[in-house]
Amino acid sequence: MSLQKLTDRVYYLPWNQETDQPNLYYIHGRDFSVAVDAGQSRRHVELFYDAIVQAGFPLPRYTVITHWHWDHTFGLPYIQGESIAHCLTVQQLKKVQAWAWTDEAMQERERAGEDIAFCNEHIRKEYPDLKDIAVSLPGRGTDTPETLDMGDVQLHLFPMDSPHSRDAMLIWLPAEKVLFVGDADCGDYYDNQGLADPDRLEKYLEFIRGLDFELCCIGHDAPESREENLRNMLQLEMGKAEPFGGRK
Ligand SMILES: [Zn+2]
Repeated sequence: MSLQKLTDRVYYLPWNQETDQPNLYYIHGRDFSVAVDAGQSRRHVELFYDAIVQAGFPLPRYTVITHWHWDHTFGLPYIQGESIAHCLTVQQLKKVQAWAWTDEAMQERERAGEDIAFCNEHIRKEYPDLKDIAVSLPGRGTDTPETLDMGDVQLHLFPMDSPHSRDAMLIWLPAEKVLFVGDADCGDYYDNQGLADPDRLEKYLEFIRGLDFELCCIGHDAPESREENLRNMLQLEMGKAEPFGGRK
């Protein structure tokens, strides 16, 4: 699969519903490049890196993680360069590192509400042999905004709460008016039955409305325009988001 071009500097390997693979984004800077998310497995990272090399680009120096969910982080052991995430992502992945990967343990976590059936179903598809699952921590966690100076452009990282998870990292490339949100535009399937908590949603909306962006790069669908994204977020506010299996 080849990289899709979104803007002069932003490319992505498209999502795949079969195993719930999210989009993996690639931001090409003059001095170095940055990946958004590590994907779900060795296979996923290899697909991404092959596409980057095929496009004639260097591999990313940094991989920024949007949140802790397996489909965005289980590729971490196989990436090159450094990785950065919200502090809470590191904390949660420390817990996940202690999880056993057997059918019994997975079912038990579902019963206890620690993990959800939708993830387990797709993890089994991506990992026919569950023993292949390896969980690594991001190299570094942060709870304050940071800027990566890529030489020709600046990339801003905002660790924050979101309607989807408490450990969101928003990534903003003002030079091209692109905002990367991971799955932050969706409801919370772990703590809120797929719904968006009104307070979290309101604070999140207030924050992104203050950013100058025209394209919103989401996790599991094609990038959206600002208007489309804000419209979809309002649906979430009114509880009309697509049911589980749609946007997540
Ligand atoms: Zn997610």
